[in-house]
Amino acid sequence: MSIHEECGVFGVISNSTTDVGHLAYYGLYALQHRGQEGCGIVVNHDGLFYSHKDLGLVSEVFGSEELNKLPSGEMAVGHVRYGTTGGNNRSNCQPIEVNHQKGRMALAHNGNLSNAAILRDELELSGAIFHTTSDTETIAYIITKERIKCGSIEDALTNAMEILKGAYSLVLMSPQKLICARDPHGFRPLCFGKMKDGSFVVASESCALHAVGAEFVRDVDPGEILVFSRQSENEIKMQSIKRHCYKEERKICIFEYIYFARPDSVIDGISVHSARVSAGRELAKVHPVDADMVIGVPDSGLDAAIGYSLESRIPYGIGLIKNKYIGRTFIAPDNRLDQVKIKLSAIEDVVRDKKIVLIDDSIVRGTTSGRLVNLLKEAGAKEIHMRISAPPFLHPCYYGTDIDSEEHLIANKHTVPEIAKIIGADSLGYLPVENLGCLMQDRYDDYFSGYCSACFDGRYPTEIPAGNSKDRFERPLSEVKKSKE
Ligand code: AMP
Repeated sequence: MSIHEECGVFGVISNSTTDVGHLAYYGLYALQHRGQEGCGIVVNHDGLFYSHKDLGLVSEVFGSEELNKLPSGEMAVGHVRYGTTGGNNRSNCQPIEVNHQKGRMALAHNGNLSNAAILRDELELSGAIFHTTSDTETIAYIITKERIKCGSIEDALTNAMEILKGAYSLVLMSPQKLICARDPHGFRPLCFGKMKDGSFVVASESCALHAVGAEFVRDVDPGEILVFSRQSENEIKMQSIKRHCYKEERKICIFEYIYFARPDSVIDGISVHSARVSAGRELAKVHPVDADMVIGVPDSGLDAAIGYSLESRIPYGIGLIKNKYIGRTFIAPDNRLDQVKIKLSAIEDVVRDKKIVLIDDSIVRGTTSGRLVNLLKEAGAKEIHMRISAPPFLHPCYYGTDIDSEEHLIANKHTVPEIAKIIGADSLGYLPVENLGCLMQDRYDDYFSGYCSACFDGRYPTEIPAGNSKDRFERPLSEVKKSKE
């Protein structure tokens, strides 16, 4: 039960007073896959902030009434949040707003700081009072503290970046500027684009730029700060601050390509769809099998299934159908019901009497795979050969991906043949950790090929927190007492 900030961020600055709130709404809609627990939008009209945020999907939080209550403005910042159990409360919804005599600020964050607990302890002991349990408030405090020492918000952020460690892709809004920044490793994606009318848009993924009609300009470089400010009625100036660039190795999260990002996004020059197809091709090379059909688990396994089929020349088929109207956060059904069956069903006519290669992106606890194998066998499939387009999950992530605690990861307790037996598959093959580079295509130069795969190989690019103290604000008193005994 730790708090993960596996989220999506969005920002827009327009050269006129316009419907920036609506634009943010559509941007967040395109980023919904990055977080379904809560969302929010802050609009800046003439230096004053107007916001709405709550728990729920974008379509639930922003009905026409809420959306229409947001005024027109010159800038907006938005956020979709993924919070696991403990951290899922309204106060953790973003963007965070800070009212301080040195300047008002709204802040949206994707990632996890690896030194959050130390920073928060220091801040609390110096008198800071926190309202939320998320890292984002710590970032807001650090920036504001730096703001007291220096003049501009971008100088404050530049200084703050000396202190913050770990993963952060940020969008910040002051009364006069829209600012975005990516941590020096570039763990989480961040890019920006331009609209025909000259407005600039910043987003976690390029799919959100396309959704609002902006043309992709480029990814924000790891360590880079971009400052957008309105110069005159028709001109927005963009300034790039690169003081933190090229200090660290690039470490984009490989799981963004495997599972997290949308397949139509392009991250750091690499198409997510193509990365997944490559992983599928690689799987076919390292774990070939004699079969009649390749099928993918919708939606996360489809692209890799196409790759497996292309490489193996085993026909690709649609054997599983997903109910389109079920998001990831549907009301948990009665325990007697199989959640997978509510979400997915097999097409009997396609799978009956066939030897099937079933592709999914990952196995965490093994529950989904086991139920899928069962579903397909009930539909008459003769054999199920499970292939996973990622290596086994073995380690926790400190940079914002929600990986279950080590004791729940099935690969930590069982060998591959044992897992195959547990899930009822006739065979099982994972993408080997040393073959992960295939996801990065042929971009093997120093600048592009760096990625973080710590959840698979335990090689963390930064110092990691001693003890998992990320959830200490979420624990009931009884548990805290027990851990002190
Ligand atoms: P499990 O049933 O615990 O083995 O979960 C495996 C399923 O969860 C796979 O179908 C994945 O697509 C999905 N999955 C993997 N990682 C995550 C994540 N961080 N958040 C939500 N779903 C995930």
